[in-house]
Amino acid sequence: MELIDGNQIASTIIAELKAEVAAITGRKPCIALVRVGDDPASVSYVRKKEKTAAEIGIESRIILPPVDIPHADLEKVIDELNADDTVDGILVQSPMPKQIDELLIFRRISPAKDVDGLGTMNLGKVAQDDDTGFVSCTPAGIMALLARSNVDLKGKHVVVIGRSLLVGKPVALLALQKKAGANGTVTVCHSGTADLPAITRQADVLIAAIGRPNFVTRDMVKPGVVVIDVGINRVEDAAKKSGYRLTGDVDFAGVAELAGKITPVPGGVGPMTVAMLMSNTVKAHRQRSAA
Ligand code: NAP
Repeated sequence: MELIDGNQIASTIIAELKAEVAAITGRKPCIALVRVGDDPASVSYVRKKEKTAAEIGIESRIILPPVDIPHADLEKVIDELNADDTVDGILVQSPMPKQIDELLIFRRISPAKDVDGLGTMNLGKVAQDDDTGFVSCTPAGIMALLARSNVDLKGKHVVVIGRSLLVGKPVALLALQKKAGANGTVTVCHSGTADLPAITRQADVLIAAIGRPNFVTRDMVKPGVVVIDVGINRVEDAAKKSGYRLTGDVDFAGVAELAGKITPVPGGVGPMTVAMLMSNTVKAHRQRSAA
């Protein structure tokens, strides 16, 4: 079994981006990070994004609207960032408070600055195999992990568990694209799927994006399978100072005994998500500079 080391692959991508940004003469790339309220997970995610941006040489602008900001006012924040020529990328951290319709906010971001790739235009470009758009960061990170681990999907049965807009659906479309590294035969499973284990046992590559700790067990996979565990779940652990530990959607100990390659949690897909956000920001700067 080979461990797919997301920390190491993300570090390599970050080093490549750092070199690219260092070579930019003139204004450096800039990302606006909008966090509404103080959700503890969001605070730590935005901090990590800010830190990684600084490491690469990307400017970050942190915008912290109050938790009770009306929807229309948050739209105004987005409009101002859309109009600001010194901002290349805009990310609004999810989850947002109840009064905010996330999908409308994602759609409000100018497609040229939608580095989170969750707006209609950029999701549509994934369906059209159009590389000029921004692929949302977690699916892009999964594809980069596979490519840099020499896993070619051509001729492989790729089984995705989960059909969210954030992960399952876009990663299934990416695996299906008619291009080098992709070209997979893709099955997407969800809570309405009958006899899920019978399908997952056919997978050459299994991507689990469910949000249930240790859901995929050893009896659900075949020997040699490549497993990408997207799940980040908090489970109680009295031995930890925080009172919890992070675990994936895959029962790592059992499945790793059979797998050809597998990502750990933490240290698999997680670090890749931040690296791909930075990659998209540098791409946005490149495209806007060329326009
Ligand atoms: P989500 O929006 O809750 O979607 C979960 C998907 O799993 C849904 O499509 C759901 O089916 C399916 N599902 C739930 N129970 C199932 C079951 N018993 N059998 C088959 N399918 C089932 O979650 P998400 O945003 O995609 O995130 C999934 C996990 O990835 C979470 O743990 C999240 O924290 C993690 N995540 C990690 C990163 C990262 O950077 N590593 C980024 C994003 C998300 P239905 O559609 O039928 O309800």
